[in-house]
Amino acid sequence: MVVCTCGKPAVVKTSWTNRNPGRRFFGCPTIGSNCPFLGWLDPPMCPRSVDIIPGLLRRINAFRGVVEELEEQRSKYKKYIIISWVNMGKYEFAKSLRRNPKKTTTDDGYLHWYRERGVGKSFGNPFLYGCSS
Ligand SMILES: [Zn+2]
Repeated sequence: MVVCTCGKPAVVKTSWTNRNPGRRFFGCPTIGSNCPFLGWLDPPMCPRSVDIIPGLLRRINAFRGVVEELEEQRSKYKKYIIISWVNMGKYEFAKSLRRNPKKTTTDDGYLHWYRERGVGKSFGNPFLYGCSS
């Protein structure tokens, strides 16, 4: 068993430096300790791996950034779609009330349903007032 200089059993960590990408080594279990380097668990990297792996890691990180950005956009557009569905529902409902003027409007063309609830005046929906004047 490998023990660090503070007397604790060493843990296996993975290096992500450009010179030793993915190579495992023994390290102190205490985060941020000043224990010196304890040694490698894996043999030295072959030169081809040292060339290739850092580039692959950079590409993976770039793709992760793109994925995060797309997730944010998807979330935003999902909200827009829900809002548009709600507004379309309101629009279709108002349109259906307007199709039956005897049943739903007063003499001045104002819709009962909205009059009773005081809805619509603030945002000026044209379906609330009819076309009588
Ligand atoms: Zn230590």
